[in-house]
Amino acid sequence: MKQIALYGKGGIGKSTTSANLSAALSDRGLDIMQIGCDPKHDSTRMLMHGTWIPTVLDLVRARGDTAISVEEVVFRGYNGIRCVEAGGPEPGVGCAGRGIIATFQLLERLDALYGDVVLYDVLGDVVCGGFAMPMRESYAREVYLVTSGELMSLYAANNICKAIQRLSRRSRCTCALGGVICNSANITGEKELVGAFARRIGSRLISYIPRDNIVRVAEVNKQTVIEYAPDSPQADIYRHLAEDVFENDSMTIPIPMETDDLENLALEYV
Ligand code: SF4
Repeated sequence: MKQIALYGKGGIGKSTTSANLSAALSDRGLDIMQIGCDPKHDSTRMLMHGTWIPTVLDLVRARGDTAISVEEVVFRGYNGIRCVEAGGPEPGVGCAGRGIIATFQLLERLDALYGDVVLYDVLGDVVCGGFAMPMRESYAREVYLVTSGELMSLYAANNICKAIQRLSRRSRCTCALGGVICNSANITGEKELVGAFARRIGSRLISYIPRDNIVRVAEVNKQTVIEYAPDSPQADIYRHLAEDVFENDSMTIPIPMETDDLENLALEYV
């Protein structure tokens, strides 16, 4: 079982990338589970054709975790992909990883954590105090950073590198970085900048996803691009990403950049 996690700043297009990656992997005949962990709980929405599925945390809050069945938390979406939303904090209240911990515990107890690929879509923002939990508990073994060339999203990616590096010193932790995915914001020198960032942290740019209106069109039609426009060039890009991620066996422990160096690097590409 491959356990992959996509991390990145909120609003960077992580859920779109995750859902399309899951859809493309499932088209290869693989058994996929996608677990979203984000207070917005919209990770699996396009796989579920627009349906908001209940979150594990909401269910646990409402009635404790003993009476919850698999059918109440695991929902079949596009191509049979099993979709789960961990949920997140109530507004104004911290979460500190509770959503994902409750989810792991419940799924394990229900024997529901299986498949060829389990893909975690985790918000890697500092607002999410517990974002390193899947790595720390060895649920996420291969981490992919989703970033654009914008400084704020590179900061977030660099922070996640710090978490991976720190955790790698613990003998129990098995997570490493599989690569960087550039989800384009359409800014000058972006591919080169994100490529240079990936090299500087000791990794590589595994995919460059150009901005394409088809993503929006698919989304308003409540589908992934893979489902809505399978013959589009964008669908091909997601399929290549799926292939590269699935075949990838080159993992590294990243070396995070100093903030000054990161800012200087960004300056070179404006
Ligand atoms: S803190 Fe962790 S569990 Fe809570 S919403 Fe953020 S990523 Fe999910």
